[in-house]
Formats: sequence, C-alpha cells, structure tokens
Amino acid sequence: MASHIVGYPRMGPKRELKFALESFWDGKSSAEDLQKVAADLRSSIWKQMADAGIKYIPSNTFSYYDQMLDTSAMLGAVPERYGWNGGEIGFDTFFSMARGNATVPAMEMTKWFDTNYHFIVPELGPNTKFSYSSHKAVNEYKEAKALGVDTVPVLIGPVTYLFLSKSAKGVQKSFSPLSLLGNILPVYKEVITELKAAGASWIQFDEPTLVLDLDARQLEAFTKAYSDLESSLSGLNCLIKPTLLMTITALNSITGFGFDLVRGAKTLDLVKCSFPSGKYLFAGVVDGRNIWANDLAASLDILQSLEAIVGKDKLVVSTSCSLMHTAVDLVNETKLDNEIKSWLAFAAQKVVEVNALAKALASSRDEAFFSANASAQASRKSSPRVTNEEVQKAAAALRGSDHRRATNVSARLDAQQKKLNLPILPTTTIGSFPQTVELRRVRREYKAKKISEDEYVSAIKEEINKVVKLQEELDIDVLVHGEPERNDMVEYFGEQLQGFAFTVNGWVQSYGSRCVKPPIIYGDVSRPKAMTVFWSSMAQSMTSRPMKGMLTGPVTILNWSFVRNDQPRFETCYQIALAIKKEVEDLEAAGIQVIQIDEAALREGLPLRKSEQAFYQDWAVHSFRITNCGVQDTTQIHTHMCYSNFNDIIHSIIDMDADVITIENSRSDEKLLSVFREGVKYGAGIGPGVYDIHSPRIPSAEEIADRINKMLAVLETNILWVNPDCGLKTRKYGEVKPALTNMVDAAKLLRTQL
Ligand code: GLN
Ligand code: ZN
Repeated sequence: MASHIVGYPRMGPKRELKFALESFWDGKSSAEDLQKVAADLRSSIWKQMADAGIKYIPSNTFSYYDQMLDTSAMLGAVPERYGWNGGEIGFDTFFSMARGNATVPAMEMTKWFDTNYHFIVPELGPNTKFSYSSHKAVNEYKEAKALGVDTVPVLIGPVTYLFLSKSAKGVQKSFSPLSLLGNILPVYKEVITELKAAGASWIQFDEPTLVLDLDARQLEAFTKAYSDLESSLSGLNCLIKPTLLMTITALNSITGFGFDLVRGAKTLDLVKCSFPSGKYLFAGVVDGRNIWANDLAASLDILQSLEAIVGKDKLVVSTSCSLMHTAVDLVNETKLDNEIKSWLAFAAQKVVEVNALAKALASSRDEAFFSANASAQASRKSSPRVTNEEVQKAAAALRGSDHRRATNVSARLDAQQKKLNLPILPTTTIGSFPQTVELRRVRREYKAKKISEDEYVSAIKEEINKVVKLQEELDIDVLVHGEPERNDMVEYFGEQLQGFAFTVNGWVQSYGSRCVKPPIIYGDVSRPKAMTVFWSSMAQSMTSRPMKGMLTGPVTILNWSFVRNDQPRFETCYQIALAIKKEVEDLEAAGIQVIQIDEAALREGLPLRKSEQAFYQDWAVHSFRITNCGVQDTTQIHTHMCYSNFNDIIHSIIDMDADVITIENSRSDEKLLSVFREGVKYGAGIGPGVYDIHSPRIPSAEEIADRINKMLAVLETNILWVNPDCGLKTRKYGEVKPALTNMVDAAKLLRTQL
C-alpha cells in the first residue's frame, strides 16, 4: 500500500531559510551561502520522507519566496518594469518582483485560498510573452535523484496559475488571463519533456482552483489544458491535487486524483459513488492544516471502505493538502507538557502517520503506534483541561441572539468628534512600530527570567515613550503605543487567555521569509485578568492626544490559531469574543477613548464554497459586534483588515458596524475602494493604506498625496483617514520616520486644498 505527501514546509524546523534569506537581503551573506542552506533543507526533507517509507515524495515544493512566483519565473512572466532581459531568472529579478527594490515596487501579494499563506499575484496582459525561464522544477528533481530519492515533481497547474493571475495595469477590462492558456501550455510542455527526460515517472499538478464554484468556461479550461498536455504526459503518471469535481476525473491524461477528505465531508460520498475505475485515488486523510494527531482508527475505516471501491493497488494514503500550512516538527517542542504533546502531530509526525496508515492497510499494522494513538485520542476527549462549564454556558447563551450598539454610526461619530476634535484627513498608524533587536532581546530575557519584572517594565515604558514622542514630533493625530510588548498580535493575547497552548518552534510560513507561530486552542477560552490596560493607560498618560487601545479581534485570533477540532469553530469564536469584550470594557473604564480591534483575518476564514459563506459571515461578524456592543457612543471603535478581497465581504464589513476601518490597499489600485462606494452608504470612517509597509521603499509626499487624491475621487472627504497599510513592526526606523513624515506632509498639504 503506497503513501504520498502533497508538499512539505520549506522554512526548516528552526526557520533556517528565513534567517538565510534575511541575511542575504541585508548583504550579510552571499548567494552561495543562501543556496547552501536551501540545499541542506531540501535534502534533509527528502531523506526524512524516504526513511519514513513514503513512496511518493514531492520535489519542487521548496521555494525561495513563493511557489506562484516560481511559476511566473518558470513561464518568464516578468512585468516589464523589472527590466529583465531574458535568460534564466536569477535572484535579482526574482527578489525584486517579490519585494520591490530601490526604484520599483513589489508585485501584489494576496492570500492563497482560505489560508494565511500569501502568494505573489502574476500580472498578465494580452501581450505577455512566455518563455521557459526557470529550470527549478527539473533542477530539484535531479538534485533529489542524485541523493538517491526519486521524487514526484510538483507544478502549479496551468489553470490555477491563470485563474489566480490579474490583469496588468492598463490592460482592457475585457481581457481575461484565462485566455492565455494556449500561450502557457507550450512552456508547460517543455518542462514536462525535460522532467520526463530526467527520469520522472510521476508529475503532480496542484489545481486547488477545483475546490471553488466554477463556471462552465472555467471547467472547460481544465479539460482543454489536460487534453492539450496529453501527448506530453503520455508515459508519465499524472496526479492532480486536490480536486472535487467528477467531470475532471474523465480526463485521459490523468492517472491519479488527490482529494482532501478532511474538509470536504461530501467528497468522500462523491468519491464512493463515482470514482473512475483504473485510476489512482490519493486519499487525503491526514489533515495538512492543523496540528492534531490523526484519529488513526477512524482514518483506517475510511481507507478500508475506499479500498473496497478502487482496489488495493490503486489506493494511496495521502495528506489533505500540502503540509506547508502546519508546523514542522514536534520534536523541537521542549515546553509543551506531555499530555498536550500526545494530542499533536506536526508535519514530521504526519509523514509518519501517513506511512503507518499505509502499512496498516497492507496488513502490517504497527500495534504499539496504533494503541498509543488510541489512548491519546481518549485522553483528549476526557481531559478536565479541555472543558470549562461556565464558559460553555455563556457562549451557548449568545447563539440566536443579536448584539449591536444602540446608536447608529453617524450619530456616534458626531459624539466622538466632539471629544476628539480631529482635523479632516486625520492621520494614524495601524499599531506596531519597528521591533528592534534590542527590543526583542528585552522580551526574550524577561521571558527567560534573566531580567526582573521591574527592569522589563521600565524598558518597555521607555520604548513606548520614545514611540509616543516620535508620533508627537511627526504630528500624527491619533497615536498608538507601538506594541513593543508583543511579539505577535495573536500570541500575545493567547498567552494571557486560558485554553491556549504555545509552541517554541511551531512556525508556519505567511509570506516570503515571514512566519507566524499560531497558538493552539485546545480548551474552552476565558480571560483571567485584564491584558492590555496596564500598557495602554501608561501610554495614554504620556500624551494629551488620543491613544488607541489595541486589541486583536476574536475572528482573527481564531483564524490565526490552530483551532480545536472537537467542537464547531463558531463555538470557539464566541468564547474568544466574550473574553475580548471584557477587555474592551476595561479599556473604556480606564479612559481609553479610541479602541482598535484588529480583524486582519476576517476575510481569510471565508469558506471557499458559496453555500457555506453566509453562515460563516453571520457568526464571525456577530462575534466582532459582541466585543464592542456595550461601549458608550463617545468611544470610537476602529478595526483594521489586511489585504482582502473586500468585494466578497463588504456587507459583513458594514454589518460589523465599526466607527472607523483601516484597510491594506496600497498594493492594489482604486478598484478596491469603489467597493466601498458602490451601493453602499458607508458612513463610517475609512483609512485605505496610503503606502506599502511590506517594502523597504520610502514613498515621497507627492506620491502619497497623489494616492489620497485618487481616494478622494471615490470616497467622501469627511470619512477619509490617512494611515499606512498595516503595522510597522517589520520596518526599520530609518524607513518609518521619513515615510511617516511624508505621509503627514501629504495630509497637511491636502487639508489646505480642501
Ligand atoms: N495592530 C497590528 C500591528 O500593527 C496589526 C497587524 C496586522 O494587521 N497584521 O502590528
Ligand atoms: Zn494589516
């Protein structure tokens, strides 16, 4: 019985790739140093899977930045502004596309389906020329082969690539990237031919678009693509991953189909009634999106029922999706207690689970492994650490009822303006200020008990004071304390809430070298005491300007955590909402007049299938309103959202009923904003980011003023706020000071003109 892994995390068990990339970008190490780290990581992953007994081991799942960008490089789809003159694409062009450089901004980035992973969006137009310009896939295949591992090269499928692309600037509205299918297939054929010549016997095409609701034209594109590739693929086994749609299974060129059997509950039934005979079924029973140990007995039942349908030799045990969305290796977790640890499996452990299931199907079941798994499952079900009756009751009482502020938004804004007295185009920032090496050291030493609480408090106080003074000098209107006490906007809250556990190395790639370390929500959530009031009131005492209290909203805490899978997600979300509500009320009581509740990740929790979206939006928005429905009219509630497809959620945004919303916008054009105008009397304040904080580039005051003017063409003057795209935590002061100076100058200039 065979086993297969869809993809594996590339950052390394201790984020080795992150550090190598950043050191290279800072000019502290050479390209060779970076390549060496990358090669070592790849080889250890391949060896680990080979040793575990995995039959189908992926290659080309590594990337120096992003697999979509790799595909753009493979196809030679480099926007003109990067001045690339053909030939194999090197680090210079590649990283300029990813991150921008001194003269040219980066390409747009957006979220990969419903995950927290961000990819670089290809920019295409009718005149885009494609040529085979990165041999990475075949190079990685050969590299693994030289190490004695025969791998399955993984490519992003042509339809998904185009589907996720956008039209380049200036291209006619009627243009659809999908129309370029015939132009990119020749490059795919070259790649396939080369892989075949190098000895590959399988190729995996990732076509996650197939989980969406597609129209006939889009479905046709799949049929066309894979029929067109048929002759190139002959003699090769071709796996498509992950798919839901049975029409696709009729394609001749495809030998195997991979399904996510964890999320798509209906998929299993579909597979059972209509899987085509003679094809391989890659059954994704091990969840690639969470950190919970698989319920092996339950998975084995499913696999056995599938085996009866497709036959022993055609069933392959697999993961539900790439393991890149989970943490790397539980072995490096020194701080989790054994009970919690026994409930978990990270990528390395999931590889072992996949193999154990394959072996069990082949009648060589590892009894000890299975029985340890069964007792861990039982202990999780019965552990008193998981259940808090009081919280369960309070959360259950929220269901079915509604929670809203009593007064409408325009009356509230009037009441707030009387107290706050802000100019038009008020300026603010999103929360965090640069996190210096020194700051990280202070937090680390405090955590390790190397410095006392007093020393820690005075160091953070000094930092807050510095940030407050800087903002006063810059003449920003609504201040922030800079979040120096937080290493992460979710972890910080999770650490103070009950029901959360933390890893030391449970990192997951978010974009480029950026990783997040999601907390694990294993039990009912409650707030033993106030979490932010101490720092926020300290910061407010340092200035007469309004200081924003800064909280992370319940939906974002949920979406950026590994969530328990033993109760519905909304149940967990309501519990978090109740905890944040108490914090909001404590901040208000402490005299904080503006409170920002970040819902950076609201959009990304939106289910992919339309039929499931309304239910999610309903409980997610309800959770947000629960947090602030009890405040006075004069307390101004802000929320912030990172880049999102606002089209899909505009009604939810309005329904959230915040007083001000700031959004990430600068990597997109004004199209985004028209969403807010169209059909919407969005009376609340809105601050579309005026510059991109993901890039080191410093925008000029003219450029920012120009952007604001474009916004003013779409939005009312009296509701527009001026702020950067997102928090400044990853930037350096050398970038932040001039950028914010220019931002404030631009706002002031425009005020005189309005
Ligand atoms: N308040 C957070 C910060 O500024 C928001 C970050 C985010 O939206 N991702 O860092
Ligand atoms: Zn953001």
